[in-house]
Amino acid sequence: MEGIEKGKLVSSGKAKSLYETSNPDYYFMHYRDDTSAFDGVKKESLEGKGATNNKFNAFIMDILEKEGVPTHFERLLSETESLVKRLEMVPVECVIRNIAAGGICKRLGIEEGLDLNPPTFEFFYKDDELHDPMINEYHIESFDWATENQVDQMKEKTFQVNEILKNLFADAGMILVDYKLEFGSFKGELLLGDEFTPDGCRVWDAHTREKLDKDRFRQDLGDVVESYQIIAKKLGIE
Ligand code: C5P
Repeated sequence: MEGIEKGKLVSSGKAKSLYETSNPDYYFMHYRDDTSAFDGVKKESLEGKGATNNKFNAFIMDILEKEGVPTHFERLLSETESLVKRLEMVPVECVIRNIAAGGICKRLGIEEGLDLNPPTFEFFYKDDELHDPMINEYHIESFDWATENQVDQMKEKTFQVNEILKNLFADAGMILVDYKLEFGSFKGELLLGDEFTPDGCRVWDAHTREKLDKDRFRQDLGDVVESYQIIAKKLGIE
């Protein structure tokens, strides 16, 4: 895979772009500075976010891989780019919540900060126009978005990630409140795809409960990239 070359743009999401490579099994994933919330209604470019998230994601994916969660991540290519396996994505988001925040508070009228014991799991259908509606596993199978076996694997792997990362963040003085994962298949194997960065999770300081994730952007709290870098520093990411 030495000398792999960047090809044409495949797709451009809200914060990342994918490019073909000279090897059909791989993509270049480019982390941009663009930041969006509320299905793309609120948008801004935050200098340094792409580079911060690219490094952050590489660190987390490496840990997950070592702990037995197979991922699409291959290696860092540049400050803002990573080499990833080309997946056929399941159009579903898997969310685990350890503490109530965001969507679940609105939907169920729950106070932010409530401990969820056991942690709760939710599936959402990835569709901005429909505002990523919550779905259940019957929908996934009826609409053929994934097989029953893939649904079982997505749940199992998302909980496995929770055990690994809850402890990682706790050991670094932080609380992993919730997060979203996406999966895809590669040559018949289900792999963790997309990213794990502060754009797609909630992380609070364990002592002050200060928000250090994308809620800083959503709620206009300021210091967005600086807060992502605080999380990175606490985790020992250089
Ligand atoms: O908004 P909600 O509370 O449902 O989000 C749960 C978790 O999933 C949060 O960490 C949020 O950042 C993440 N998420 C995401 N992308 C979405 C929806 C949620 O990364 N489209």
